[in-house]
Amino acid sequence: FDDRDGFIWFDGKLVPWREANVHVLTHALHYASSVFEGQRAYGGKIFKLTEHSTRLRRSAELIGFELPWSVAEIDAACEEVLAASGLKDAYMRPLAWRGSESMGVNPHGTKPHLAIACWHWGKYFPPEKAARGIRLDIAPWRRPAPYTAPTQSKASGLYMIASMSKAHADNRGFDDALMFDWRGQVAEATGANAFFIRDNVIHTPTPDCFLDGITRRTVIELAKKRGIEVQERAIWPEELESFQSFFLTGSAAEVTFVQSAGPWSFEVGALQQQLAKDYDDLVNGRQA
Ligand code: PMP
Repeated sequence: FDDRDGFIWFDGKLVPWREANVHVLTHALHYASSVFEGQRAYGGKIFKLTEHSTRLRRSAELIGFELPWSVAEIDAACEEVLAASGLKDAYMRPLAWRGSESMGVNPHGTKPHLAIACWHWGKYFPPEKAARGIRLDIAPWRRPAPYTAPTQSKASGLYMIASMSKAHADNRGFDDALMFDWRGQVAEATGANAFFIRDNVIHTPTPDCFLDGITRRTVIELAKKRGIEVQERAIWPEELESFQSFFLTGSAAEVTFVQSAGPWSFEVGALQQQLAKDYDDLVNGRQA
């Protein structure tokens, strides 16, 4: 991914894509002292940009460092790199990390850095698969307890288990994996939140050990606007067979239907199709 034309915003300026490098003795590379964001631009407008920039700063604070850029400055930097890319529809990846100024486990003395890249990234899951619902494996790893890791931070360290679970699912011929949490409750997929539908009521796990996604909150609002009841609560695997539909939400994944998760299967129902359309209308500015 490093050998491309284009520009990456790096600590305050746009640098050529191939020159946006860090040293091998970067603290973040050794100790996962990094956090990131993922957001999409639609028709040249970055959806919920300020929410993403705010979460980036908050994620860094939760793992112990403060970014010297304000939310407004991060917003402006995202706009700048999007404009430089010439893209209207794009995926954007801000990344903040502790640098190579010091090598001890103690991060003292390291400097915070920020880079923002943007590129064309179509659908997260192949559209032909997503139309009838993707197939989820059950992850071999569980989301850790909030007393084990700062689970509300979009911290790179938390993506070790997500990436391993995704690779495990892929090796076994699945599209993604459903992760349970340390208690055994249903948590989320490797990069998206989970929603279930039964008799036109939406059920979604309480985000107490994983991200309360920006897309998650958006979809809850869209559902409520339609008068649909949304229950946020603990969901145990035993309940999965009683749900008719299952979908995922995420900035990259948008609204993605799920056909099966481990032994449980689901249908693509009218309500989730409606919500997917509402989301698509909203991000593309077709709705107030
Ligand atoms: N959970 C995980 C593990 C994720 O990586 C993401 C994507 N950021 C989400 C949930 C959904 O978050 P959002 O809707 O804010 O993109």
